[in-house]
Amino acid sequence: MENLRPLDLSRVVRDRNETILFTSLELKNKPGALMSVLVPLAKLNVNVIGIHSDAVTSEDYIEVSLFLDVRNSRIKSGDLKKVLEEQVRLLDVVKEVKVFDHLPHGLDADLYHFPLKVHERRAVVFTEVVLRDLILGLRNTLEISAAKTILWLQGKEIGKNLVEYYEKYYDAKSVKEKLALFEIYSFSLGWGIVSFESINEERKEAKVRIYNSFECSLFSKSKQPESQLFRGILSGFFSKSFNTEIDAIEEECIAKGDAYCSFTLSPKEQ
Ligand SMILES: [Zn+2]
Repeated sequence: MENLRPLDLSRVVRDRNETILFTSLELKNKPGALMSVLVPLAKLNVNVIGIHSDAVTSEDYIEVSLFLDVRNSRIKSGDLKKVLEEQVRLLDVVKEVKVFDHLPHGLDADLYHFPLKVHERRAVVFTEVVLRDLILGLRNTLEISAAKTILWLQGKEIGKNLVEYYEKYYDAKSVKEKLALFEIYSFSLGWGIVSFESINEERKEAKVRIYNSFECSLFSKSKQPESQLFRGILSGFFSKSFNTEIDAIEEECIAKGDAYCSFTLSPKEQ
């Protein structure tokens, strides 16, 4: 865990002095293309304070977005577009330059990229404030046991669909391969750091840990484990993978102060 660092996806910045500009450059996807754009920016003392693009692309052109700060440059923010176009357009690696206007209320933001995607599928980001209501909000209007059951059932559907997705898009066949995909995506999508401690395919049993679960981190000082949605996801995932109804029991949980959440998966008792 100590070798990890957070990643800010907000793409919104406060800019009361209007020295920051959001820009988009479309470049040939070849070695050195980005550097050839950064060198003239450096000469103008324009600082890159943010950079993003498609996480991975094999297209002929790569679109790179930059938040540029002209605070210490002799270039005024109003002239940046003109200067950038002059400087950068001359480069044969650049297909297109876009410089976006400041937004009202001293803000700059990426209002260019929409929708967000994970591979070919649309993805949305919910901050913890929204997640809390999605996961705990029902408890205010339904009995707690009913609210928990709904999350668990939703989780089961999600888990089953994930297996189908891995089979369809990755041609994943073995349980271990599907688990590897699940671990990787849980990490890259920020769900939590999943580790499959043991799998017994013959007995259809497994032990799973998740560190920093997006669900259980919403709780604190609970007396009991709190996972319903993720527990359901594991149940659905293993039910589909093992082709039999699999129950998931959470033993340790960060909600009650443990270092991680741990789950035991085994065939549902008849
Ligand atoms: Zn938990």
